Amino acid sequence: MRPDYDVIIVGGRPAGSTLAARLGKQGLRVLMLERSTFPELPAVSCPMINASTMDMLDEIGADESAYARGTPKIRRVVQALGAGLTLPFDWPAYKGRDYAYAIDRARFDEALWHTALSYPSVQGRQDFNVTDILVEDGRVRGVVGMGADKQTVRLTATLTVGADGRYSTLARKVGAQERHRHEEHPTSTLYAYWKGVRAYDDSGDAMAAAYGGNAGLGYLLMDSADGTTAVVVEGRADRFEGQPDSGEALYLRLLRENPEVWARVDGAERITTVRGMKRIGNLYRQAGGAGWALVGDAVVQQDPLDGQGIYNAVYTAKSLAWAIRDWRAGNKTWDEAVEWYDDTVMARTFGMYRQLLDRVEASLYTELPQETAAMLARWTLDDPLLKEVMGKFITRQIPAEAMRFITPGLLVSSVVRGGLRDLRQRLTGR
Ligand SMILES: Cc1cc2nc3c(=O)[nH]c(=O)nc-3n(C[C@H](O)[C@H](O)[C@H](O)COP(=O)(O)OP(=O)(O)OC[C@H]3O[C@@H](n4cnc5c(N)ncnc54)[C@H](O)[C@@H]3O)c2cc1C
Repeated sequence: MRPDYDVIIVGGRPAGSTLAARLGKQGLRVLMLERSTFPELPAVSCPMINASTMDMLDEIGADESAYARGTPKIRRVVQALGAGLTLPFDWPAYKGRDYAYAIDRARFDEALWHTALSYPSVQGRQDFNVTDILVEDGRVRGVVGMGADKQTVRLTATLTVGADGRYSTLARKVGAQERHRHEEHPTSTLYAYWKGVRAYDDSGDAMAAAYGGNAGLGYLLMDSADGTTAVVVEGRADRFEGQPDSGEALYLRLLRENPEVWARVDGAERITTVRGMKRIGNLYRQAGGAGWALVGDAVVQQDPLDGQGIYNAVYTAKSLAWAIRDWRAGNKTWDEAVEWYDDTVMARTFGMYRQLLDRVEASLYTELPQETAAMLARWTLDDPLLKEVMGKFITRQIPAEAMRFITPGLLVSSVVRGGLRDLRQRLTGR
């Protein structure tokens, strides 16, 4: 019997909706099934998105004025490293966009959902919970689930895709194998959105400001939609565990620990609950199997320190859409298509993943005396060449693998240049 759909996608946020749109472009009959009712915030996420992500959203016709409605363009980022040391840099441009957004996920995800539905062969059901999979002859044939009417339904498809996030039901049901799991430097995070946070300076510019100076902790304040500010604290997991307080009280105490952060937040109004995640995992999963595939956080999930999750979600969706196109055109068997998809995802994401693990260790788990750390940070992070290269790296304009080779040399040369700058200043007073 002909299946109900060509592709069923479980999960309708960045990975699921962008995949649905790309498959809709190919004319496939797609059904997105999403547990939430939009507009609704995801369980945890307070993200920045880059121009490289927006560029992929352009490809599916997503409307920037809808997904970033009321959200200021962030062109300036400042690192405030404690002891009065601040290092500003401008956001690197990519294909004409010289800004990032600290987007509101409720409106972002809703806008992408509607982008997917604008393709005539794509349908979507919200408030629908997928509870099981249908398997026949060792192949996934669809899903079992329940909508708002509490009726159990069975829906069949040639291919079932899990875009259902880091705790993916599909991954669990098919027994997707885990790979590259890293738990040696666990981190946790707490965040909330506020109104009335003091501006970083008088410039009137939207900003993202990262604050350091507290051992094992980092803070990020990002101007977001409708005059709100995301106030995030992330750090070593032990800074969040075994404490006398938890949740909201712990969040506020950690904010107070950094006087610069507290000076901005004190007197402001918190407008969301405090959300967060303990011991954020880093892992890859098997990309696909007989009748199924995974995208987004379901296939690669990582610490949010470098803000690459949505890029990865949108990129894995793009890559899987290519693999499906080749498979349906008869250019590849399904096994070959999955292998190609997996290779492509690894090639684009794994270098960044390894760099991220190194950065988590260096920034949260390596304790240098504060003066030494501040001096090294000033010499390196204020180096124009290093800033330019790092900006291009974080916006995915330089392959992460290449960064592994060029970073040590860049760091050494920036330390030398930084030392010379200091010496010149001491000798000439300039
Ligand atoms: C604290 C924090 C900060 C972050 N900051 C950034 C950042 O700055 N930049 C960035 O790019 N990324 C960031 N990320 C990562 C980013 O949020 C994720 O990578 C991104 O949301 C992944 O998208 P996704 O579509 O794969 O999954 P999700 O956004 O998790 O969506 C999965 C969807 O599947 C649905 N679902 C799950 N199970 C079922 C089921 N059984 N039936 C039906 N529906 C189901 C869920 O309701 C959910 O809507 C951050 C994450 C965290 C935790």
